[in-house]
Amino acid sequence: MVLADLGRKLNAALSSLNRASVIDDKVILGYCVLDALLKEVCAALLESDVNVKLVAQLRQKVKAKVKAAIEGGADKGKEQNRRNVVQKAIFDELVGLVDPGVEPYKPKKGQSNVIMAVGLQGNGKTTTCTKLAVYYQKRGFKSCIVCADTFRAGAFDQTRQSATKAKVAYFGSYTETDPVSIAAQGVAKFKKERFDVIIVDTSGRHKQESELFKEMVQIGEAVKPNMTVMILDASIGQAAEAQAHAFKESANFGAIIVTKMDGHAKGGGAISAVAATKTPIIFLGVGEHLHDLDKFSPQPFISKLLGMGDVQGLVEHMQDMATQNPDKQKEMAKKLEEGKLSIRDWREQIQNVMNMGPLSKIASMIPGLPQDMLQGSDEEGSLRMKRMIYITDSMTAAELDSDGALFMEWAKDGKPTGLTWRVARVARGSGTSVREVEDLLCQYRMMANMAKQAGGKNGWLSAMQKMQ
Ligand code: GDP
Repeated sequence: MVLADLGRKLNAALSSLNRASVIDDKVILGYCVLDALLKEVCAALLESDVNVKLVAQLRQKVKAKVKAAIEGGADKGKEQNRRNVVQKAIFDELVGLVDPGVEPYKPKKGQSNVIMAVGLQGNGKTTTCTKLAVYYQKRGFKSCIVCADTFRAGAFDQTRQSATKAKVAYFGSYTETDPVSIAAQGVAKFKKERFDVIIVDTSGRHKQESELFKEMVQIGEAVKPNMTVMILDASIGQAAEAQAHAFKESANFGAIIVTKMDGHAKGGGAISAVAATKTPIIFLGVGEHLHDLDKFSPQPFISKLLGMGDVQGLVEHMQDMATQNPDKQKEMAKKLEEGKLSIRDWREQIQNVMNMGPLSKIASMIPGLPQDMLQGSDEEGSLRMKRMIYITDSMTAAELDSDGALFMEWAKDGKPTGLTWRVARVARGSGTSVREVEDLLCQYRMMANMAKQAGGKNGWLSAMQKMQ
């Protein structure tokens, strides 16, 4: 079962709680509703290959928590509170299932952070190294890759091609056969050139062989990584635990990236198995493209899985954008704070969102967004956004800088009575319909009102946080 399916099933189980007619103490404490709910949750987890023992523990812990909370009067005798107690207990235990309770290393700017990637062949190591470099590069770290994989023919070519495509600096050799020497040379060169993030891609093997482990240790000694990351393929499910242990015994790694989470049935199993090894997962690989890398943190992950959005992720994303253009974002924050967002400013926000990555990813971070808005492919979504840009392109400067009021006809008492000729002109000019222009103006007003009401520093972001 792919993660989206797991999320849907868990979500459906939790919503069934809202449909249950009466939830009094007896029903909850007699476990009728809770038992049925937990049965569904556990079945979904087992289908996703989560270890039976972990699932059984989750069941016990949720029951104990709910019992303690209700007996302790946390629900204050109210039905809705009782539902919340159950939902919170399940949410917390799901978080616990994927939380190793260990903080990973965080690269710091202005110093060289060496990250060494290890893992079996085919797990997605080389692909992930480039994704990582792109991730940090986008966030203002000068990033590069050292290809120390001399075992697989063509490894350096693969790095060269993907690094060139991603516009990331790289180092490797067609002639040198000693991976330790290449790694040391590459890291020394990039350190001298003051790169912030230096990613060392090491060889893999088909199996966990002593040769592989020996090589990893030697490279580690030569480049002294700040963090060693193990790259693990989600498709092995629960077996991830054994693989992680085997690697940990020789190359003591600090973090894990689970790849191929897109479309793999055993994703949930792999993540929970890894958490059981007390090693933090830092990213999930979710596709073959350069940007298909999701930052992983337990709570936002479960929140997103359950369709509850990921405000933290969204804020981080916005902050990343802000670091790329701080002055502009400061100006925007001020306008939001003052409730003076013009159509032109809004267009800029739409353009920013379009630059943030695949739309579905951004949309799934926004809490409260109706699921049907997420429907359709990313292409359809970005086409919709492009049409919004075309519409604004057909507006005059005065219209763009306005709050949209001049598109409306107003009665004397200040109530809108209809649309002005401007709407039809914009529709004609942009090759869209009057309806589309009207929709855009409507959406703009909703967004501007929301920002105004929220006030405060984060404007519409804090509005969304309040919606959660
Ligand atoms: P390496 O041998 O560990 O360096 O593995 P590669 O980086 O060459 O990747 C092996 C295959 O897995 C390639 O076809 C990649 O495109 C694919 N791959 C890597 N990461 C992901 C991912 O997150 N999702 C999917 N669907 N494929 C991936």
